[in-house]
Amino acid sequence: MSDEFDVIVIGGGPAGYPAALRAAQLGLSVACIDDWKNTDGSQSFGGTCLNAGCIPSKALLESSEWYHRAQHEFAAHGITLTGASFDLAQMQKRKNTIVKTSTQGILGLFKAAKVTPLPGHGRLLAAHRVEYTPADGAKRLLTGKAIVLASGSVPMALPSVPFDGGRVLDSWGALDMTEVPKRLGVIGAGVIGLELGSVWRRLGSEVVVLEALDGFLPMADQQVAQEARKQLSKQGLDIRLSAKVTGAEVSSAGVNLAYTDATGSHTLSVDRVVVAIGRRARTEGLLADNTGVVVNARGVIEVDAQCRTAVPTVYAVGDCVRGPMLAHKAKEEGVMVAELIAGHYGAVDYANVPSVIYTTPEIAWVGLTEEQVKASGRAYKVGVFPFMASGRARAMEAGSGFSKVIAAVDDDALLGVHVIGPMAGELIAEAVMAMSYSASTEDLQRIMHAHPTLSEGLHEAALAADKRAIDYPNR
Ligand code: FAD
Ligand code: AMP
Repeated sequence: MSDEFDVIVIGGGPAGYPAALRAAQLGLSVACIDDWKNTDGSQSFGGTCLNAGCIPSKALLESSEWYHRAQHEFAAHGITLTGASFDLAQMQKRKNTIVKTSTQGILGLFKAAKVTPLPGHGRLLAAHRVEYTPADGAKRLLTGKAIVLASGSVPMALPSVPFDGGRVLDSWGALDMTEVPKRLGVIGAGVIGLELGSVWRRLGSEVVVLEALDGFLPMADQQVAQEARKQLSKQGLDIRLSAKVTGAEVSSAGVNLAYTDATGSHTLSVDRVVVAIGRRARTEGLLADNTGVVVNARGVIEVDAQCRTAVPTVYAVGDCVRGPMLAHKAKEEGVMVAELIAGHYGAVDYANVPSVIYTTPEIAWVGLTEEQVKASGRAYKVGVFPFMASGRARAMEAGSGFSKVIAAVDDDALLGVHVIGPMAGELIAEAVMAMSYSASTEDLQRIMHAHPTLSEGLHEAALAADKRAIDYPNR
């Protein structure tokens, strides 16, 4: 096998594998190195997202949601179901099969595109040189005209509550539990904490979420955040804000978590803890000394808007660089650098990156929050349309939440779109497209939406911004 490639990609997650595939589509010879290790010691491509993130979490969210509906929502439809129960082993087996199909799918894509998969560790030595170490330890020196660093991220540890793989888990461990803990503590009310907390709450755990900040979902529109907190609390998630976890006492009986809030010091006794306080870029072992690639004080690889590092032949994409740690952002960056390397045009529209939280109700947005628009001083208008006014949402027994459109008064530009409700993650795609094409509120108002669909809610919210909503009183 040749040790010379046009492009060498280090990392086979949602940043790296699309970079490899796009570069191959454009006629370049490509190798993709990845050192992901499964719990059984095997390697698979797909990174955090496919192996231990987006995909397994969505599989368990789906299964637990079905169980929740069977218990709590079937009756409203006139369906009687007595003694609903679940088999966690089957749920986990289903999830693991989905993961395997997804990760093996990448190998299939690599084969079809003639990308060379190199399972093992990669280390950048110099502008064109990479050291590749496979499982057998026999190091090889590879040469690439261009190199893409896509090393991703790892869970952030809380020094006072160290991971032990048993009682104190990271997000991966939380996806692999084989029994439902009676009491589960979740540290961090971010996206991952809320999604994983929801899974185990629906399956019967008493879940307490401890969040150090005073505000709930500070990055989201606060009208949405308030509604989310209300709905999640109703489902039994005990969300405690301003609660800073300071330590843990782990014993065979469980974990006593120590935390402080405005009223003083407290202890919370739980069976297991999930530490979900965020993720950090992974760069350990990635760079030899003096490569010229700059890593900042937070361990993030420094890049420009087109993901170029300080070394002209080396690019970096995905979670290991600045910006939101999201798989779709990682993918667009991977594709962009492949196009740039091949001599084409490439760009990522960072202003229109959608955010989705896959709780029930789902939460999704693109653009600015009302708080951000207000702070900018620009005159704006807001249209809100609640799902309870949507015939389709009512038919789905999913009438909570709303769609919200924020637009500029001067030129009618859409500034932000926020949805909390059924299928919000799917609905937001329309808003992303509208904003990517610089649509005005009027453009959204003039587009015909099929009836009865959830997407009408977005249409009506756009109309409501000009007090023209038809299906809900204008205020
Ligand atoms: P990663 O997916 O982390 O991939 C990096 C890969 O590179 C890994 O396989 C790693 O082993 C390998 N690697 C690193 N260094 C080296 C080296 N030196 N040599 C060889 N290989 C190396 N995002 C969403 O957009 N939607 C979601 O719903 C979502 N859900 C999530 C749920 C959970 C529980 C978690 C933990 C994350 C979730 N994310 C979600 C975030 C998403 O997983 C990441 O943003 C995404 O995986 C980033 O892709 P990446 O390719 O940059 O990094
Ligand atoms: P995210 O960055 O979206 O994954 O969210 C992680 C959350 O964990 C943030 O909202 C942090 O404020 C929170 N967090 C970090 N450290 C602690 C801590 N010691 N106790 C409680 N919450 C924390």
